[in-house]
Amino acid sequence: MARGGSQHWSSGESDGQPEEQTTEDTGDKMVKETQYYDILGVKPSASPEEIKKAYRKLALKYHPDKNPDEGEKFKLISQAYEVLSDPKKRDIYDQGGEQAIKEGGSGSPSFSSPMDIFDMFFGGGGRMARERRGKNVVHQLSVTLEDLYNGVTKKLALQKNVICEKCEGVGGKKGSVEKCPVCKGRGMQIHIQQIGPGMVQQIQTVCIECKGQGERINPKDRCESCNGAKVIREKKIIEVHVEKGMKDGQKILFHGEGDQEPELEPGDVIIVLDQKDHSVFQRRGHDLIMKMKIQLSEALCGFKKTIKTLDDRVLVITSKSGEVIKHGDLKCVRNEGMPIYKSPLEKGILIIQFLVIFPEKHWLPQDKLSQLEALLPPRQKVRITEDMDQVELKEFNPNEQNWRQHREAYEEDDDGPRAGVQCQTA
Ligand SMILES: [Zn+2]
Ligand SMILES: [Zn+2]
Repeated sequence: MARGGSQHWSSGESDGQPEEQTTEDTGDKMVKETQYYDILGVKPSASPEEIKKAYRKLALKYHPDKNPDEGEKFKLISQAYEVLSDPKKRDIYDQGGEQAIKEGGSGSPSFSSPMDIFDMFFGGGGRMARERRGKNVVHQLSVTLEDLYNGVTKKLALQKNVICEKCEGVGGKKGSVEKCPVCKGRGMQIHIQQIGPGMVQQIQTVCIECKGQGERINPKDRCESCNGAKVIREKKIIEVHVEKGMKDGQKILFHGEGDQEPELEPGDVIIVLDQKDHSVFQRRGHDLIMKMKIQLSEALCGFKKTIKTLDDRVLVITSKSGEVIKHGDLKCVRNEGMPIYKSPLEKGILIIQFLVIFPEKHWLPQDKLSQLEALLPPRQKVRITEDMDQVELKEFNPNEQNWRQHREAYEEDDDGPRAGVQCQTA
């Protein structure tokens, strides 16, 4: 179990349950359990992209650096992601639930350390690289779709450890470092506790005096600036250049700007872009997608419409004379999608989906209907004969329908074969 070797605390097993209970519709996918999906806040039908995005947001939120008391939650998020991001494991989970995963259907029953999953996802390098370097600092930067379209420079204030200048990372006067007298250099303390008559228990804990370092600096020789810690916490402002065409989840690396530690190469700062939803446009790769409502008259007789672009221009679109736009029809405008990263003069396409607004009932006086009908394509003739059943056409209410189905199922369970539910009038 000690595979991870992570120094982060886990807050114990008391709160292992996900906080939210989802009663939502699970999409059209049938799965045995939804717990892992619930932890990530996605539906069982979620795409690999959606799963990645959900992990990204939650992992950054619950990382022990930002949320030291949520170690257990961070672990659960990591486990859920580890399973759901691997098509094979996801399949095993969907069919057999957590039990099947723990039994190791794929040959690897144990989970990786949450820190390894995190580092792999955010590009922190392997553990070997990490041990010779200070810690990477990962930060999320919230951007709008406009920012990604136009490019923007944002200032971000970070807290990071820097080597104390006063003592040059020694922690005190030169030669003041001594073997810790409390733990005798072992870094661990052993307490003996009496737990009953003649029974003692040994408990090993990290040495409080040296915090496990095995050495310490005599309090009178300690550096006043860092109090012997060798590093001090400093606020640093970095400028992040968000370039045209960058996308949600893209990482921007600041090499060597992470935490400093004596005798180690500093880690990196990794900025992860997080795009806020836009009220009009949705992005898909290089393309933008929008929905546009048009009146029935516009759908049949043509229209002119305006669209405000992400760089504040106004586009005018016109339907050709005689053209009919149907509900749900897709049209596109070339070169009005997102700029292409590193080649921003090229752009994707803007896709417009039309939603036709039909008039409300009784919008036209009864006596005018015939005039309208005369202009519209002719209706289809229906021949009605004696042997057909005339039935009533009612408003459809999906909730009511569900209730009926449940009741029928219930009756079936209780009373054996269902009797007497026949809709035919003989
Ligand atoms: Zn000690
Ligand atoms: Zn110092």
